[in-house]
Amino acid sequence: AKTDLPAGTTTIFEVMSRLSAQLGAINLGQGFPDMTEPPELIAAAQRALAERSNQYPPMRGLPELRSAIAGYYARQQGLVVAAEDVVVTSGATEALAASILALVRPGDEVILIQPLYDAYLPLVERAGGIPRLVSLTPPDWTLPLGQLEAAITARTRLIILNTPNNPVGTVLPREVLEAVGELCQRHDLFLLCDEVWEGMILDGTPHVSPLAIPALQDRAVKVGSAGKIFSMTGWKVGWAVATPRIASAIAQAHQFITFTTATPLQWAAAEGLMLPDAWHARHRARYAAGKARLVAGLTAAGFHILPASGTWFVTVDLAASDLPADDAALAERLIREAGVASIPVSAFYASEPETGYLRLCFAKQPETLDRAIERLTAFR
Ligand code: PMP
Ligand code: GLN
Repeated sequence: AKTDLPAGTTTIFEVMSRLSAQLGAINLGQGFPDMTEPPELIAAAQRALAERSNQYPPMRGLPELRSAIAGYYARQQGLVVAAEDVVVTSGATEALAASILALVRPGDEVILIQPLYDAYLPLVERAGGIPRLVSLTPPDWTLPLGQLEAAITARTRLIILNTPNNPVGTVLPREVLEAVGELCQRHDLFLLCDEVWEGMILDGTPHVSPLAIPALQDRAVKVGSAGKIFSMTGWKVGWAVATPRIASAIAQAHQFITFTTATPLQWAAAEGLMLPDAWHARHRARYAAGKARLVAGLTAAGFHILPASGTWFVTVDLAASDLPADDAALAERLIREAGVASIPVSAFYASEPETGYLRLCFAKQPETLDRAIERLTAFR
């Protein structure tokens, strides 16, 4: 019938969080902290609500926030971008949607890298793009540059990267981004890089943005998220940064998706981004402590945890942990029998999934992590 609707699926994050709440499990699935922090940002938002405007901000974002984003990147990453290159969006999710709508025309091929964050593929398909999938190579999740190049055709228009990577926590080194830059230049492609985890690298590895690679400066879009930098996932303040020509195309899309993003939260995010580097380092250190706690507890119980540089997640290698390599079945047993929610890494694949890895979120209070470790230890 004319009123038929396409069958869709609900994201794995929502499915696991709902089931977790229903079963009273400890939720190490969807990535969000269970602590109320940081107080500086909460105070900034309260002040902004009481003292600043609650009316529409400019369509591309408050000038103060766009400058604060540029300043943050200059200090934290040595990256030179202009405030005018920033388009503020309602979360990184909208930055991804607006960028994909701006850059992908019906019939264009788009290269996606698996494991892939779940929003990319449906957004590309809704824009009429044709996805081409390339998989990272486990267990160190390196990007196979030969396969990436082989996936490029005359119809390819865009490559989407994610560094640091959700789910596996690895970062793309400068040499790899330079090689990707060379490919993008040679084949005249855009690059969309999801960098929402840039503020959560916990082992000191530097974050390199494609915008820092000369070959990519005029063809890359950098996506960031205040929700991730400040651990306020419900804030949904994000942005896209790109050369003026591309930023304008993204703003064209943004103006008819959400038009603007909550004004008080933009003020608060601007204040937060101007906090000194030492504040950001302390903020990160609390999450590094949670990671160390979960990794130590699970390792003592015989779980094999893969090394990772960033994000709020660790990956359990099931075969190396002497567990059957069926991550979806294990996640189902863990939530029902152990009372711990997790995310199977296979959920981040659109084809030929790896099934031997499970993602756990450590952005939790020490007591939550200790209870989860107890339950997972008892399960083994
Ligand atoms: N990209 C990645 C890789 C993410 O992990 C997330 C958050 N889970 C997002 C985008 C979305 O960020 P936001 O909440 O700012 O929309
Ligand atoms: N980024 C979060 C995660 O990976 C989930 C965001 C969402 O639920 N869409 O867990």
